Amino acid sequence: MSARIDYDRTFAFCESAVQRIRLHQHPAYPRNYELWYTYATGYNAALNRAINEALKTAPTITEQELDLLYETYLSPLRLSERVDSIGTRILAEIAEVTDILKDARAQNGEYTKTLERLAVEADGLGDLGRALGTIARTMLAATGEMTQRTLLLESQLASSQDEMQELHNTLEVIRAESLTDPLTGLANRKFLQGTLDRSIADAANGQRFSMLVIDIDHFKTFNDTYGHLTGDQVLRLVALALKQNVKGQDLASRFGGEEFAIILPDTALSGAAAVGDRIRRAVMAKDLVKRSTGEHLGRITVSVGVATWRRGDSAQTVIDRADRCMYAAKRAGRNMVVTEDDPRAADHAVVGKVA
Ligand code: GH3
Ligand code: MG
Ligand code: MG
Repeated sequence: MSARIDYDRTFAFCESAVQRIRLHQHPAYPRNYELWYTYATGYNAALNRAINEALKTAPTITEQELDLLYETYLSPLRLSERVDSIGTRILAEIAEVTDILKDARAQNGEYTKTLERLAVEADGLGDLGRALGTIARTMLAATGEMTQRTLLLESQLASSQDEMQELHNTLEVIRAESLTDPLTGLANRKFLQGTLDRSIADAANGQRFSMLVIDIDHFKTFNDTYGHLTGDQVLRLVALALKQNVKGQDLASRFGGEEFAIILPDTALSGAAAVGDRIRRAVMAKDLVKRSTGEHLGRITVSVGVATWRRGDSAQTVIDRADRCMYAAKRAGRNMVVTEDDPRAADHAVVGKVA
């Protein structure tokens, strides 16, 4: 009976979620489904309030707004951060209580020695002494029991500590996963954004950096010709070319779709352009072969834009300049690296799609 109720109830939520995805014309990714499903249930009051507020000003929610809503109200990363900080506090509390117990046990030890001495001395004092000795030995037994209980409590606390530590480690794994692009294993856009924000702060203190934006050429045609799954393999291959051509502290990421971005700390424009060109050549050199059939799929190329930090830059202004250079590379014929001091980068100030 209850399974039937669950079935009806959850399907009503599901249908409402799918309806809204259609209404707002969002891609039907699990994440978007999760958001609209949660909205339908009404379990997350803050999320519903935020969505209702947004719908007062515009009839539909944009994908950017959706990102932000997810980020703020549903992201597992946020949740894991909260759980993690509680976990850290509990670990500290356990350590403190364990210390207190150890102290108590040490004091018990002293107390035991005193009682033992008293028992021995009292035995030599006749009848009254013997009575005193009996009391001392009863107290000794009680103290011994107390020490045993304290020991037990300490060991229970130690195992709680182990469990907390394990939870802590699991959260680390979840956090790493939430910052990784599952298809390519590169950092995802969120990771890049965080690193870029820190790079901007560091640059003001003297550690300059450069940035590459890399976009696959005519990838739509490739996908249309060979299919999305083969396209995904190519994305992996390009990601590999990125990984193999950056150094330890550089951050290579999948920025979205068929676009990648790299942050290069301590690197001037010319050095970054050299890295960009190395990647461009590495991608071009790959002879694409379809795994299942052995069919040769030709080659693919990338266009690369390069910008370097300037005083007053925000994360967005650096990205915009690198992006503009990448589009300049497209206009100039693709399979090319364009830096921001290249006159071609200034041709069209407006960022736009290249036909
Ligand atoms: P351009 O040289 O101007 O960059 O042309 P383009 O065809 O690469 O650019 P456009 O932005 O028109 O198309 C990007 C295509 O990338 C659309 C889509 O088919 C493909 N794409 C985006 N994300 C993915 C993905 O995750 N997997 C696959 N297989 N293809 C993707
Ligand atoms: Mg492209
Ligand atoms: Mg693109």
